[in-house]
Amino acid sequence: MAVIPGDGVGPEVVSASLPVLRAAAERAGSRLDTVEFDWGGDRYLRTGRAMPPDGVDVLRGFSAVLFGAVGRPDVPDHELIWGLIIGVRQALDLAVNVRPVQSWAGVTTVLREPDGIDLVIVRENTEGEYVGIGGRAHAATPHELGIEVAVHSRPAITRATRYAFDLARTRRGRVSLVTKSNALRHGYTLWDSIVAEVAAENPDVQCEHVLVDAMAVRLVQQPRELDVLLCSNLFGDILSDLAAVLVGGMGMAPSANLLPGGDVPALFEPVHGSAPDIAGRDVANPVACMLSGAMLLDHVGLPMAGRIVRDAVATALRDPCLHTADLGGTATTKELAAKILAAVETTT
Ligand code: ATP
Ligand code: MG
Repeated sequence: MAVIPGDGVGPEVVSASLPVLRAAAERAGSRLDTVEFDWGGDRYLRTGRAMPPDGVDVLRGFSAVLFGAVGRPDVPDHELIWGLIIGVRQALDLAVNVRPVQSWAGVTTVLREPDGIDLVIVRENTEGEYVGIGGRAHAATPHELGIEVAVHSRPAITRATRYAFDLARTRRGRVSLVTKSNALRHGYTLWDSIVAEVAAENPDVQCEHVLVDAMAVRLVQQPRELDVLLCSNLFGDILSDLAAVLVGGMGMAPSANLLPGGDVPALFEPVHGSAPDIAGRDVANPVACMLSGAMLLDHVGLPMAGRIVRDAVATALRDPCLHTADLGGTATTKELAAKILAAVETTT
């Protein structure tokens, strides 16, 4: 697999995760070969580019990529975020973003009863409000305008929807489509129609339609009933941060970017960014990155190794002495990672 540690806490959480992933693969009777790339902010400052011009083609040679984070306060976001991570996602057409959210015994959260959450957000990853179409007009007049055009297409909706239904079938068999088709009457009604078509072909999966405002409430009040949430790019972005907070925050949220059925590498990354406010202090929570690595192991045909990582994370998190600052503890990144590694190594 390819590894891009990136900037800020990226290299800290990636270097905490790699030994755990390698050890889990070994436990499962396999070997994980890694090739590391120094792409990101430092490289941008040295060369004017966050990654080499043939970077995407280099990645195509791998089955999977583990990515830390990019972003530096002294480099404009578009150079790094667009120059690297969004550029890679777009060039590889990684159409679907998968964000599992589950509670962990021992981790206290904003919820009075933190346990029992196990859901996955499937986010359309390429279009919607994020296509960049629009503009600003009438600057410095009382009639100044900002126009943002959302684009929702049948192919993009269909592939996210099919992925969500297939995933639900391996879980509790429930898809909740999240839209706002009562007010946004063009794009989101297309979502409604396509999802209804796919639902009719998949009668074994239960499908419901929930407006995004109602879903925000449901996530807080009844998160345990939710299984697979199928979301547009914008709603998936917002709801996955909300959902992450319910299980301990951004330090606990893994993700995968993939093209279902496509012959391109899938990219696994913690949902969080480079977190410059805590970088370099050995306090970042490495769990989001490790769980992204566990998804990677599942994806490359080592589900037993993925399970070993998740079990080891669960074992460590039961001990509050091993919680990092974001979870209310005082453990360092390295202390938590060492205990997770030890748990992997003693897996029977
Ligand atoms: P991006 O634009 O890349 O999403 P961001 O500015 O939204 O980045 P993040 O880097 O995700 O922000 O950080 C948001 C907050 O969460 C920060 O206060 C950061 O310290 C905290 N945070 C992020 N990742 C972690 C982590 N692994 N462990 C602990 N705290 C984290
Ligand atoms: Mg953010």
